Amino acid sequence: MSDPVQSTMQDAPLLISAILKHGATVYADSRVLTFDGEGVQEGTYGEVAERAARLANGLASLGVEPGDRVGTFLWNTQEHLEAYLAVPAMGAVLHTLNLRLFPEQLAYVIDHAQDKVVIVDGTVLPLLARVADQIPTVEHYVLIGDADTSVLGDVPVTRYEELLAGASADIEWPDVDERSAAAMCYTSGTTGNPKGVVYSHRSTYVHSLAEATGNAFGLSETDRILAVVPMFHANAWGLPYAGWFAGCDFLMPGRFLQAEPLARMIETWKPTIAGAVPTIWNDLLHHVDQNPTDLSSLRVVPCGGAAVPLSLMQAFEERHGIRIVQAWGMTETSPLAAVAHPPKSAGPDEQWRWRAKTGRVSGGVELRIVGDDGSVLPWDGQAVGEIQVRGPWITGSYHLDPDPEKFMDGWLRTGDVATVEPNGFIQITDRSKDVIKSGGEWISSVELENALMGHPSVFEAAVVAVPDERWDERPLACVVLRPDAQATPDELCDYLSDKVARWWLPERWTFIESVPKTSVGKFDKKVLRKQYADDELEVVQR
Ligand code: AMP
Repeated sequence: MSDPVQSTMQDAPLLISAILKHGATVYADSRVLTFDGEGVQEGTYGEVAERAARLANGLASLGVEPGDRVGTFLWNTQEHLEAYLAVPAMGAVLHTLNLRLFPEQLAYVIDHAQDKVVIVDGTVLPLLARVADQIPTVEHYVLIGDADTSVLGDVPVTRYEELLAGASADIEWPDVDERSAAAMCYTSGTTGNPKGVVYSHRSTYVHSLAEATGNAFGLSETDRILAVVPMFHANAWGLPYAGWFAGCDFLMPGRFLQAEPLARMIETWKPTIAGAVPTIWNDLLHHVDQNPTDLSSLRVVPCGGAAVPLSLMQAFEERHGIRIVQAWGMTETSPLAAVAHPPKSAGPDEQWRWRAKTGRVSGGVELRIVGDDGSVLPWDGQAVGEIQVRGPWITGSYHLDPDPEKFMDGWLRTGDVATVEPNGFIQITDRSKDVIKSGGEWISSVELENALMGHPSVFEAAVVAVPDERWDERPLACVVLRPDAQATPDELCDYLSDKVARWWLPERWTFIESVPKTSVGKFDKKVLRKQYADDELEVVQR
């Protein structure tokens, strides 16, 4: 045997400070725009990086040390981006807090993560004040904007701009271990307490590179990213780090997340990429259909977090020339794990067949589907099983909670049920807790919902399992009609009859004003199931 050969490559650590420095120098003129309701506040990358250095020094002066958690209770703004960069780069851990959590969950996650400092926006300070007496680990607040801080109790409060003004802009970013904690995010699960996912510098770095590739979103300096997805929802899908690394401009929407201001932002400041969950795009579509708006700057609209209805993608493309690309991922997967770009072999007639799928597994992520009996199933487009994933940006446990149920032989059990095509395209049929088991066979709530949302009178539709004496479970269709639109269950069933199997057609229908949503804007089916069980829904039997 010949002598073994050693790699000659250098072993540079993959750090967020390296991402920060690259953007700050190479793309010093790229810009971060933050919408304030009328105009935008602007900062260049050079300025943002300098402020990040001041923030790091300022936080250190408040006692923040490597490994300490710094919470952010903020909208998507330039300051939030500064914290994204400064906190991990100084060796501390960024903990993005969901602004829409119930108070008890908010107190739980702050306490569980042991946040030492929380940076809070004045507009949401009253929400934080509700739990101020339940978060003893917090030693200091940093306030952005204005607010009455007496409601926070005796804990000292420093104003963000004063902290920065009093701190030096000189900094030597420390050489931390690339496997150490950089940021954390709790899942927005609808059952039980949220679970903490802790990203490392390394996982963030490689995820950023993967997200910038052409098989994902193909990011470059010529892009401008409108991150509608909150920076507390799976790191705004990784866009802040991936975008900064690639030198993209950012357009930050602040607290203006309704369709009208979003449309205005897109028309005026012309982002090329905009990421948000389907409910946001559905509202925006309704708005721009009635208020013609120039959305043509958008070259790609990543959409995920929940199944993206084909009808929504087609309406945007046909009526507004906008390309929505479906992606799949989870807080646990950093989050990007699959993107539905059609394969090169797909002809013009086959484009939608592929784009309607959940996504094609991303390079760097290993994926398998596993049956109820634990056997690994083939990628044949037929076999249905739970998706399991592993890879360098997939979590291997939860913070202070190993939760062995969620892992199997080193693979993350996603709880998503799907088929996989031989070429790696997944099609999610359901969350395992949402599947409808009727007479021993599965009905896909996702497929029924997607089909229903294609009906011109339907604004939103969610389908949940309800108990049934004969079949064990049957689907209940919960439908929100468009303003002034009419449709009866019989008409909707007629419409569905050539789109899904006949035995899937729901007998039970309820027409509601809106589908309840989770803290990150997804359909909250747990609430619908409870409303049905508590007899709170007016159900029409067909
Ligand atoms: P979260 O951690 O809040 O982002 O939630 C992750 C979950 O959202 C996944 O496990 C899926 O159930 C769901 N999800 C994300 N993207 C999609 C998609 N494109 N289609 C269907 N479900 C999705």
